[in-house]
Amino acid sequence: MTHGYAHTPTMPQGLLSKRVERFAFHHQKWLPWIHAAMFVGFLVLIVVPLLLPAPNDNARLFHNFTLTANFLIWGFWFPLVFVSVIFTGRSWCGVLCPMGASSEWVNRIGLKRMVPRWIRWEGAPVVSFIVITILAQTVDARSFPEGIAVVFGLTLACALIVGFLYGPGYHKRTWCRHLCPIGLTLGSFSRLGMVQFAPKKPRIGAEALTDKGVCPTFIDINRKRESRHCIECLRCVQPNAKGGLAIHLRKPGSEAENIRDHHPHNSDIWFLFLGTGVAIGGFLWLTLPLYWQVRHAIAVWAIGNGWLSFLSPGPAWLMSVHPAGREVFTWLDFSMITGFMLATGVVFALALSACTALGSWMSGLLGGDKCFRHRFLELAYQYLPVAMVSLVIGLGSELFALLERAIGATPTHIIEVFIFSAGLAWSLHIGRRILMRQGLAGSRLALALVPSLLGCTAAGIIWWPALFGA
Ligand code: SF4
Ligand code: SF4
Repeated sequence: MTHGYAHTPTMPQGLLSKRVERFAFHHQKWLPWIHAAMFVGFLVLIVVPLLLPAPNDNARLFHNFTLTANFLIWGFWFPLVFVSVIFTGRSWCGVLCPMGASSEWVNRIGLKRMVPRWIRWEGAPVVSFIVITILAQTVDARSFPEGIAVVFGLTLACALIVGFLYGPGYHKRTWCRHLCPIGLTLGSFSRLGMVQFAPKKPRIGAEALTDKGVCPTFIDINRKRESRHCIECLRCVQPNAKGGLAIHLRKPGSEAENIRDHHPHNSDIWFLFLGTGVAIGGFLWLTLPLYWQVRHAIAVWAIGNGWLSFLSPGPAWLMSVHPAGREVFTWLDFSMITGFMLATGVVFALALSACTALGSWMSGLLGGDKCFRHRFLELAYQYLPVAMVSLVIGLGSELFALLERAIGATPTHIIEVFIFSAGLAWSLHIGRRILMRQGLAGSRLALALVPSLLGCTAAGIIWWPALFGA
């Protein structure tokens, strides 16, 4: 979806922003070395645990490499990368990520074909996110190194193949722009971040794709309006040049609050509503008694009707088959996990869509500007904070467990509940600011905010058992 934009005035750059920019510019020569080191580290974390014997029940974290690698990936890297988006935007992508860097390396020697329409389709990264999120559950990537190898090996292979085949122009990252499930997540959450790369000489017109120029993610830099696709590679930043982009520090959440100026997009909404709903399902099936009751009933029915192959394990690249680890998923488990996660995604998306639609309708009724569709699109962004903190808490369970052992059970539980509540409050605040931009104030604003409250409550009710147990 595209929107027309008025000319964006040049933003004055603060002293701190200038210092950050100069520091980043002077140190960008190290980026290839950092990428190479990260690539080696990434391979070590993925491959070495496959070569080692499985840890026994007495193995301890930091005394066993397999457990350490698992913790570094799930307990440390994933939650902290999400948190880092608030403070540094998508710096993970531009500065550290080995998959994005390797996709760009192969692009240099690759075929550089035009990016096909199916890859440029706005739903492509959401489908990629859903597939990888479900696969991570069915192969149990949180528990076994083979699962980690399947998920990250597949992601790396796709990044390399796409990078080799597609991306005309200078050193492109088609995978990062259009397909990476992590990039989709970081891109949406970067709209909450306090770093913005803004054009020094902004041009009139909507945000647009271009394969001309230096940007690896195809951004037409002088018409750049949003943070989503900027991986902060620093290629367009030159402190003494009159053109290009400048680094600005801003209030966290300000892009979401003023989303109408920053190219709101349907794929963010698909991710926020459907993608995070599927992710909730990944946390929920483990804890929900109803899931296990239904699974038991279907298993009994399958035995009674002679569907025994449905109760046998499938290939290890598709589901967890670890007899020694006391976990063997069958086709029944695979189907149940996949179906449950998709169903949770649909229910979550319907619940948030209903609340957002109600809010958009009420906003229009009470004097809000723009059409229903635009108001809906804007208001959907209020759910960014609650989605982000929920994923951080869910994925950070191992980090919190480590803290728990260090400082005792109660404080970490309180910290988790506090972060979750802060996310809900932040979402409401952004909803209020979006409604203000739609022209509402006073009691009309308070009334139009009621559906936002309902939406945050619904999100809280659905996330709560997934994060804190049923
Ligand atoms: S978009 Fe994905 S592959 Fe690309 S740099 Fe970011 S995390 Fe890495
Ligand atoms: S806009 Fe600039 S910093 Fe951002 S990805 Fe493109 S070239 Fe890199």
